[in-house]
Amino acid sequence: GAERTKNVLILMSDTGGGHRASAEAIRDAFKIEFGDEYRIFVKDVCKEYAGWPLNDMERSYKFMVKHVQLWKVAFHSTSPKWIHSCYLAAMAAYYAKEVEAGLMEYKPDIIISVHPLMQHIPLWVLKWQGLQKKVIFVTVITDLNTCHPTWFHPRVNRCYCPSKGVAKRASYFGLEESQIRVFGLPIRPSFVRAVISKDNLRLELQMDPILPAVLLMGGGEGMGPVKETAMALGESLLDKETRKPIGQLIIICGRNRTLASTLQSEEWKIPVKVRGFETQMEKWMGACDCIITKAGPGTIAEALIRGLPIILNDYIPGQEKGNVPYVVDNGAGVFTRSPKETARIVTQWFSTKTDELKRMSENALKLAQPEAVVDIVKDIHGLAAQRGPLARVPYMLTASFTSII
Ligand code: UDP
Repeated sequence: GAERTKNVLILMSDTGGGHRASAEAIRDAFKIEFGDEYRIFVKDVCKEYAGWPLNDMERSYKFMVKHVQLWKVAFHSTSPKWIHSCYLAAMAAYYAKEVEAGLMEYKPDIIISVHPLMQHIPLWVLKWQGLQKKVIFVTVITDLNTCHPTWFHPRVNRCYCPSKGVAKRASYFGLEESQIRVFGLPIRPSFVRAVISKDNLRLELQMDPILPAVLLMGGGEGMGPVKETAMALGESLLDKETRKPIGQLIIICGRNRTLASTLQSEEWKIPVKVRGFETQMEKWMGACDCIITKAGPGTIAEALIRGLPIILNDYIPGQEKGNVPYVVDNGAGVFTRSPKETARIVTQWFSTKTDELKRMSENALKLAQPEAVVDIVKDIHGLAAQRGPLARVPYMLTASFTSII
């Protein structure tokens, strides 16, 4: 059509919590649904702009989750609204020039934030630029249950919540019903399309065609008790009498190279595959029968789509804690921190308790929301259409924000 291509700026940061995966899912879905109507920029703001206040966040995040108590304190001590808004206001004033330059560079018609700390500053800049009526700003929350209050901002056009629990929190923190939508967590469209049969996947991935398979992982960074759990499974999945394996184990270590090389040098008595960072998670999940993981929202949502019962063996305090009851209370999995207990459960699922495995798989599929990402981009498209073709964002004018303060 005659309409101009619209610019979409997705603000993310590689700080875990599935932010990158969600950002890429949204980008892919825009392409599939609307082709050239939108031009998408995915920006890791922390990396992109030298002056961005959250510049160091990735590093300090990784430091803090390794020192769990510290992260706990940081998460909860920034919760009271007055603290975070004062803090963010100070940061916004200090760094507004950088943010402004960033926004001007991409001339976005639509801004999508998939990060808890990226509502306030961009929205301030838009307001002070007089652009808040012109630019559509939406938040896509990537926590399944208990999320940090900085996710919520009363001036967004939409706040996409992955679950009813999060939607409740959104209204508690002052958002109107008209701003809130519950579609689910955005997962890469490749997870939903072109589903290949388990038999064919196992052939392609060179797995044992018959033995039940457990997938063991720990998010993109390979966190949690992966090694201990692998060792325990290596023992328990071997039948004590026949000395034959009753299951096979796939370990995906993500970016944790040390973990991968340690596990690769082990001698296993059952079929085991140790992998690094995999780009086709949908295939590995499709080839397995259950999954063991920390409570990362991305991995959980993906496992639900594939109908995998989930053993949660760890969570990042604060943002991932609420993901545990989301899975357990809905009958899609169990929580245990003990590698031995985990190994025992998997062994039972593969031998005496196959009915429990099947029931949990059905519950997982009931919770799954494979269409979420498509629903989200269609809704954003609807918002853009309401603005009509006249809403050309006047980026060229405007006095510099920094000259106002
Ligand atoms: N992932 C991947 N390849 C890997 C390991 C993980 O693509 O080797 C993906 C995984 O499928 C999920 C995301 O990384 O989409 C991890 O997100 P999650 O929210 O579970 O945890 P995070 O690592 O962000 O804390």
